[in-house]
Amino acid sequence: MQFYSTNDPTHKASLAEAIFRGLPADNGLYMPERLDPLPREFFQELPYLSFAEIGYRISRHLLGEDVPDADLKSLVYDAVNFPAPVVKLDEQRYVLELFHGPSLAFKDFGARFMSRLMGYFNQGNKQELVILVATSGDTGGAVAAGFYQTPGIEVVILYPKGKVSLLQEKQLTTLGHNIHALEVDGTFDDCQAIVKQAFLDQELRQEIRLSSANSINISRLIPQSFYYFEAYKQLGAKGDDVAFCIPSGNFGNLTAGLLAQRMGLPVRHFIAATNQNDVVPEFLKTGVYTPRPSVPTLSNAMDVGAPSNFARMLNLYGQVNGLDPLNPATHQAMRELITGFAYDDDRTEDAVREVEQRFGYVIDPHGAVGYLALTEWQQSNPGTRGVILETAHPSKFKPDVERILGHEIEVPQRLAELENREKVARPMGTAYAPVKQWLREQFL
Ligand SMILES: *Cc1c(COP(=O)(O)O)cnc(C)c1O
Repeated sequence: MQFYSTNDPTHKASLAEAIFRGLPADNGLYMPERLDPLPREFFQELPYLSFAEIGYRISRHLLGEDVPDADLKSLVYDAVNFPAPVVKLDEQRYVLELFHGPSLAFKDFGARFMSRLMGYFNQGNKQELVILVATSGDTGGAVAAGFYQTPGIEVVILYPKGKVSLLQEKQLTTLGHNIHALEVDGTFDDCQAIVKQAFLDQELRQEIRLSSANSINISRLIPQSFYYFEAYKQLGAKGDDVAFCIPSGNFGNLTAGLLAQRMGLPVRHFIAATNQNDVVPEFLKTGVYTPRPSVPTLSNAMDVGAPSNFARMLNLYGQVNGLDPLNPATHQAMRELITGFAYDDDRTEDAVREVEQRFGYVIDPHGAVGYLALTEWQQSNPGTRGVILETAHPSKFKPDVERILGHEIEVPQRLAELENREKVARPMGTAYAPVKQWLREQFL
C-alpha cells in the first residue's frame, strides 16, 4: 500500500515510511492510496469471525503487500488480545466498550497495533527510534503501555500540567525504562505544537530518528476501524440500520469509522459528539471551519481546538489538496453522512446520572457526551439502532464520576495499583527550544 499526503496527492510514501515519519514534510497527513471494499467472503463470514481475525483480515486487505501474512497475523492477534463487547442500554441504544485494554481506553488498540508494526519494521536497525507524542490524557497511557520495553524504541510523552487526571498522569509517569514524560506548563495544543515543530525541524531529524504516535499516525487509525466491524457483527446487523456515535477530540476514531465505511461496512450515519470544543459540529452546521484554542472540560480527552484529523475527513469527501480553499461540495457530502452535536459540562453530568438511573450503567463523561448526541439524533431518526463508542473506563475519571453520582465506583485492579507508584516527569514550558535541547541530551 502506498500512502499520499492530504496536502499533495502526488507525494507518496510506503507503509514503513508513513509510519516512521508520522507526518509528510508538507505538513499534511498520510492517507491510504486505495480504500477498496473488503471481499464479499469477508462479509459472508463476518458473523463467525473472532475479533482478532476481523482485525487480521482488514490488515491483510490493506497491508498485505507490505507484511507477509504469517507475520501480520501474529502481530494483529497479539495487538487485539482483549475484547470490545457491545452492551445494550435499550432497543435503540448500545454501548461499545473499548476500554478492556491495558490503559482502559480505546487508544490501546492503536498503540498496541502501532508498536508491533513499528517493532516489526525496526528489526535490525542499529539506531534507536524516539517516539514523540503529545497527550491530552489518554494517548500517553496507551502509548506508554503499548511501547513499554519495546527493544530499540524510546518514548517521550508531552502532557499539559494539571490538565490530566491523577490516574492518567500515573499511567504515563510511572513506568520508567524506555518511557519518558515531559510535563508542559500549558495546554494540550501547546504540547501538540511542540511535537509538530520537532517533526518539521530538519536539523533535529538528521540527528535523532523521530517518529510520532499521535492519532496523526496512520498506523494508529487502521486498527480503530476493526471494532466498527466487530460491533456490527455483535449486533447481528443487516444492511445499514446501525448508526455510530463517536465522542470526539482529534477525530481519529471518527475518521477510522469513515475508513471502515469505505471498506464496505454499511453505516446508517455517523454522529460526531463533542464537548464545548465544537469546531467540527459547528463546521457541519455552517460550512465554516474556525479552529481556536481549546477550553478545558470534564471530558478532557476531547479538549481539542484544532482537530488534527479534520484534514483527513475533508480529504475523504473530495478535498484534493488540504491547502485549497474549502469546497462547498465537500461540506455537503459530509453533512449527508455526519451530524455533529456539542454539550456543556452540566448536560454531561446530567447524562452520567441519567444513564445510571435508567439503565444501571456507569458511563464515563466522554461516553456521556455520546449518549446525549445519539439520543438527540434519534429523536429525528426513530427506528434506528445506535452504538455509542465508550472510549474510556469510568474509573479513569474517578473523582469526577464519583462526585457526579454521589457514590464510589469500581476501579479495575490494574489501575488501582498505579495509585501508589511514584511520578517521574520533567517540567517544561511551552517553548520548543528547551525540549529540543533535552532531546539531544537524552538521545545523542
Ligand atoms: C482520545 C479520546 C477521545 C477522542 O478521540 P479522537 O480520536 O481524538 O477523537 C475520546 N474519549 C477518550 C476517553 C479519549 O481518550
